[in-house]
Amino acid sequence: MSRAANPPPHLYCSIGLDRAAMRRRDPHWLAQALADETTRILPMHGLKVLVDTQGEKPRLGWRHPRDLAGAADSEPLFLGVIDGRAFFTIEAPDLDRGHLDYLEVRSVGSVLGGTDAGLAAYARAMMHWRRRHIFCGNCGTRTRPIDGGHARHCDHCGLDSFPRTDPAVIVLVSDGDHCLLGRSHRIPPGIYSTLAGFVEPGESIEQTVAREVEEEVGITIDDLRYRSSQPWPFPQSLMLGFQARAKMRPLTIDPEEMEDARWFSREELLDPDRRPVQLPNTDSIARFLIDEWLLGEI
Ligand SMILES: [Zn+2]
Repeated sequence: MSRAANPPPHLYCSIGLDRAAMRRRDPHWLAQALADETTRILPMHGLKVLVDTQGEKPRLGWRHPRDLAGAADSEPLFLGVIDGRAFFTIEAPDLDRGHLDYLEVRSVGSVLGGTDAGLAAYARAMMHWRRRHIFCGNCGTRTRPIDGGHARHCDHCGLDSFPRTDPAVIVLVSDGDHCLLGRSHRIPPGIYSTLAGFVEPGESIEQTVAREVEEEVGITIDDLRYRSSQPWPFPQSLMLGFQARAKMRPLTIDPEEMEDARWFSREELLDPDRRPVQLPNTDSIARFLIDEWLLGEI
């Protein structure tokens, strides 16, 4: 290992995408884009993205609008523009798919890489939000999309709903040549990762980091340093990544929150073949935070 996996801008950032927010409110421009030969649409089904699995490595199954005539279950949702080409996503389960298949974004994200992983993650986040706002949260009336699908309007009570992103903190706690990794009940067997948790209402992110670490493993921290962030649309989070220093070593693990947590030495984690535990997937900011500490890059 010579450098940290997945350095910023992390995977699932929409690299190179112009979100072209002004275009969302221009129905004429959107209609023209949907008639343009160069436009591409990413079909989705059940929050999975269409992937072409035939070639040497999987690629997103981008389609032209004409391929989707009669197959779509929803209005096209505008994602943005790259080099003059417009990109949309749409709910469209009934395609003649051939060698294409609907796959989870995380199962192909690392292979897709940069721009396509970002577009797939963005499309997934938008579709997750759309599916949960078909009806007005205020009065229950069916809503309709506005602004290229970036808001939904209720004609009965006038409420506009917008996509939500939940801020969450993620922190690599270290003390000298040891770092703290743990297993929450929800991560796959064998993997030890950084500590993480959602920001609560009325809380700063610095307070969230301190609270989560104390709740999960019973220690206090200082020297908190912000590193970078990663969109994590599984389903709708933004991960805010930190490094911090532990003020004490003995852990008091909350069994409700954590299955286990331990101190690991840099030496036992550095060699991938000799690690006593697995580290999180290389598509995650969790892995980046661990790697940059292991490699002494901070
Ligand atoms: Zn309403």
